[in-house]
Amino acid sequence: MTYWAEHAWTGGAVASGVVIETAGERIAAVRTGVAAPPPGAERLPGLTVPGLANAHSHAFHRALRGFVQRGSGTFWTWRETMYGVSARLDPGSYLELARAVYAEMALAGITCVGEFHYLHHAPGGRPYAEPNSMGEALIEAAARAGIRITLLDTCYLAAGFGTPPEQHQLRFSDGDAAAWAARAAELKERPHARIGAAVHSVRAVPADQIAPVAEWAAERQAPLHVHLSEQPAENEACLAAHGRTPTGLLAERGALGPRTSAVHATHLTGADLGLLGGSGTTVCLCPTTERDLADGIGPAADLARAGSPLTLGSDSHAVIDLFEEARAMELDERLRTRRRGHWSAAALLRAATLDGHASLGWPEAGRIEAGALADLATVALDSVRTAGPPPSLGAETAVFAATAADVRHVVVGGRTVVRDGVHLTAGDVPGALARAVDRLVTT
Ligand SMILES: [Zn+2]
Repeated sequence: MTYWAEHAWTGGAVASGVVIETAGERIAAVRTGVAAPPPGAERLPGLTVPGLANAHSHAFHRALRGFVQRGSGTFWTWRETMYGVSARLDPGSYLELARAVYAEMALAGITCVGEFHYLHHAPGGRPYAEPNSMGEALIEAAARAGIRITLLDTCYLAAGFGTPPEQHQLRFSDGDAAAWAARAAELKERPHARIGAAVHSVRAVPADQIAPVAEWAAERQAPLHVHLSEQPAENEACLAAHGRTPTGLLAERGALGPRTSAVHATHLTGADLGLLGGSGTTVCLCPTTERDLADGIGPAADLARAGSPLTLGSDSHAVIDLFEEARAMELDERLRTRRRGHWSAAALLRAATLDGHASLGWPEAGRIEAGALADLATVALDSVRTAGPPPSLGAETAVFAATAADVRHVVVGGRTVVRDGVHLTAGDVPGALARAVDRLVTT
């Protein structure tokens, strides 16, 4: 295939008239300054950027959208509603919901999702006849939506420090890390799917069970993700139980390092910053969820200075819009510091593309250059939101003003998945979302 991008983000700058030739699922060649599309080339009007990486997702949380915006409450009351939805999911209904959610992601320019998956077993904790039925449903859902997935199979064993799982959490638990590892080892990678590991949190995995999960990931050189210090209550409980912060505990148990992503990392000490940055641990920010759940604003600039790559995720899917996540990283920091310009649009785009993919175990994706995976997202520069600035400011315009609704074309592995804002294989995505949510949520 040959694509002709009117403008494209390549080599850290906007180039115009960019011919992108693909061979199989890779980019074979990139040429800039080509004034008109070569014969037979597919036109990509607007700014084409590398496909976006959504580094932290719980697909079923999408069913909560709107419903959890009534009344007040906290992270912990939101969680009760979330457990109610999780109790009604089975492999069939999860496939239906996740396919629609991943199609929504494709329409938003997301070409790879990191699915932090802990809903493993049937209600009551009984394993399915195929123990990975739920994880396989997610892998199949991504295939049907035309995007890549890293299934981050999550170890989740406890309700809290020294507390066994509660009723709704029985579906999450394998009993111990050895049983988790045996089940997760049965998951098979596909061309569109890779397998990683996750420690749900230091709340949900007893200290002596953390290292086995980290070792499982190390043996496979696979990503290891973990929710970290989203809430001060986690820090307080961890200090009481272990005399160290959650970051300190993960460091002690060998769970930090360049393959690890700490998700949220909102409430950190100075020592925590040093441990995360010094070990090269990535931090995945989920700003739209963190503000939705009243978590607080994490020390993103301090983390970056300390050495942590930053990535972005839509997590609870209050909205699915990686441009909103990217600008929120900068805008939250502005509100806190009352200064502007902590990250350039280029740096924010890097978090949403190259670093996001690397954190999910796809280091060959996230850039438009020969040899990389041919994953592309094209943003309109002629919508009511994006019209006006010159194309040379395309990255600034996309990151600071575009929304997911401005994504017009999406290519994954050299195949067009979205054309002119329409998903080519998923059919009526809003209708599919409505039907899937209606089955799960009782009002
Ligand atoms: Zn999460």
